[in-house]
Amino acid sequence: MDSPQALAALKKYFGYDDFRPLQLSIVEHVYAGRDGIVLMPTGGGKSMCFQIPAVTMPGTAVVVSPLISLMKDQVDGLHAVGIRAAFLNSTQRGSEAHNVEQAYENGELHLLYVSPEKLLSPGFFTFLRRRRVCLFAIDEAHCISAWGHDFRPEYTRLRQLKQAFPDVPVLALTATADRLTRRDMAEQLGIPDAKQFIASFNRPNLSLEVRPGQKRREQIVRFLRDRPNQAGIVYCLSRKQTEQLSEKLREAGYKSEAYHAGLSAEKRAKVQSDFIRDKTLIVCATIAFGMGIDKSNVRWVIHYTMPKNLENYYQEIGRAGRDGASADTLLFYSYNDYTTLKDMISGSGNADIQLAKLDRMKEYAESLACRRRILLNYFSEDHGEDCGNCDVCANPPERFDGTVLAQKALSAVARLRESTGLGLTIDILRGSGRKDILANGYDRIKTYGAGRDLSTYDWNQYFGQLISLGYLYVAHEDFNKLRLAPAARRVLFDGEGVELVKFQTIRDRKKQEESRTAKRAAAPRSRNSLFDVLREVRRALAREASIPPYLIFSDKTLEEMAAAEPTTELAMSRINGVGEVKLARFGDHFMQAIRQFEGESDAAPASAVKARAGDVRKKRRAEDRERQGDTPSHLVSLAALQAGDTVKAIATNRGVKKATIYSHLAKAYQEGHEFAIEKLLPADTMDWIDEASASVPDGEGRKAVLAYIAEHYREGVVHYHHLELMEAFRHRHPLTTPI
Ligand code: ADP
Ligand code: ZN
Repeated sequence: MDSPQALAALKKYFGYDDFRPLQLSIVEHVYAGRDGIVLMPTGGGKSMCFQIPAVTMPGTAVVVSPLISLMKDQVDGLHAVGIRAAFLNSTQRGSEAHNVEQAYENGELHLLYVSPEKLLSPGFFTFLRRRRVCLFAIDEAHCISAWGHDFRPEYTRLRQLKQAFPDVPVLALTATADRLTRRDMAEQLGIPDAKQFIASFNRPNLSLEVRPGQKRREQIVRFLRDRPNQAGIVYCLSRKQTEQLSEKLREAGYKSEAYHAGLSAEKRAKVQSDFIRDKTLIVCATIAFGMGIDKSNVRWVIHYTMPKNLENYYQEIGRAGRDGASADTLLFYSYNDYTTLKDMISGSGNADIQLAKLDRMKEYAESLACRRRILLNYFSEDHGEDCGNCDVCANPPERFDGTVLAQKALSAVARLRESTGLGLTIDILRGSGRKDILANGYDRIKTYGAGRDLSTYDWNQYFGQLISLGYLYVAHEDFNKLRLAPAARRVLFDGEGVELVKFQTIRDRKKQEESRTAKRAAAPRSRNSLFDVLREVRRALAREASIPPYLIFSDKTLEEMAAAEPTTELAMSRINGVGEVKLARFGDHFMQAIRQFEGESDAAPASAVKARAGDVRKKRRAEDRERQGDTPSHLVSLAALQAGDTVKAIATNRGVKKATIYSHLAKAYQEGHEFAIEKLLPADTMDWIDEASASVPDGEGRKAVLAYIAEHYREGVVHYHHLELMEAFRHRHPLTTPI
């Protein structure tokens, strides 16, 4: 066995041209009969390190894996590329196990997957000795160490393996193991001198983004709208959260399921299998989900709340984009989440270590520097440059002199005698007319209303910064009241300046998202349509073969196909991920789809069809106007109002709803026609709307504004059409001074 042979096998079975860093060294190490420890991130390509030796060395590679649920998919995946593999575990019936044993004894297997229990069961070593084992691969090897986060006592007996088979190389593979765990792993397995192969943990195809944890559900729906047909996972903190969110997403028209430990085993298995097979696109899960899945086309991962540490976070986002195609990750963060987690952790065993880890997580979420650098530094890697694929790199923070702002905030806390929490303090600063504020006389303190010029949303951000800069802290033991830290006195009394960072507002983000969507729309049609066609072909083939779609071809392979449009066998075989067996088995289906797609798009370019539809609409509109005479409809309504009719009367006369007339009038006003638009708005409505619009992040829509007014002022008084009128008014009289 040599490296050309390994390379040939990589191409023949998997259709890849090159090994990834370390893969070939590991394979050669195994060829030399030596033991090794492999540390690679999820999706890094660990399996190849034992699969290539398995198909090129004489004998069978035995893979020990605790993830029984994965074995079948893994073996199916190997069959699909023409590799002979089978598994033995406790879930099988006797006859099935017998057939596998027979195949092993006949020397027909490249790979044999076994659970640790099975491997260590009486007589199994004797059974294995009947043929030749070329390699033992221990997957998820961190489970052997009590230092690891997933300790499994049955794994500790694996040291018997090296004693029983001293000449067979042992390869221990894991995605998570710090230095201590790795050393322990080697000792437990009886391979203390094993060479360690540590791959970079960088996953450049994963985008990293952190957003303030406000209006999370709405933000998620918008996120999904941008990613139709893409599969993803939302990690939640509690069972209830998974169910509520999933429900909400279903209401918004997405196929979503909840997944948590409280569900029956059957239900969980069903959710998992539907997800793997692309039948359910979205799973809202507690962290219990993900360990047992190998799905390579998870396109995004969202954290509804912050994980407890960066290890968990990295492992969870690592489940996205295993195929190497780009994938998005989004973490929602709020200071409240941090305090909740802190409370949860404080009672537990090794609280000190856990709290320190939580603080690192928080620093990451609040970071104003490239997030990937922070992550990689945490895993002891320094890449020396910013990544360009995180939100901070995309929008470098802008600093400004925030002294006055800090003075207002700190002085409010001082004047409130450090007796209020974050939300109430902000409402007081903004001069809210909340009943409890008035009842407590907070409206009489000097800073009441001093922060009207900023929205609640912005204040939340700035308070967060003042807390992380050490001017304020939260008294967790006393109802999370805000307290002044010594540094605050320097700002309040000694004239110390404070530099703050301008946070990107949701409005900016929305613009960004819009431009991203526009970019996608403008991207070559390969991504938008041929890719979708190919995905459908894949889905149909997967159903027929009863295997998950990603085992037919990965998203990355489909993307490459969509871009290269191969229509000959030779061209098809050049696509990464198309090996000999898959070419023979699936190649024709995909080439046919590509040819058909090309034919159709030549015959009738989509843009021409669209243009024709547009012409028809324009013509209809023109006809409508002719019927009405020259006066546009909204000006007909305006004339009636100016003639003294009430809105109600105009609506009745014209046979339409009142809301339509309000719309007409708003439009007329916006165009510059004069009339007393204020008279159409109930008393106080204008103030309320201004206040609410400032408090609700941009882009949340009119519904959110109405909800805010109902909650803070009066219910049922302000309606949708009032907002419309007010928008017209503000269009001509923008707010120049703070509300
Ligand atoms: P891990 O077990 O480390 O999570 P996998 O072995 O499942 O990762 O590999 C992740 C993905 O990367 C798979 O889709 C695999 O086919 C692909 N892959 C592995 N090695 C290579 C390679 N040398 N070239 C291209 N793709 C590869
Ligand atoms: Zn970055």
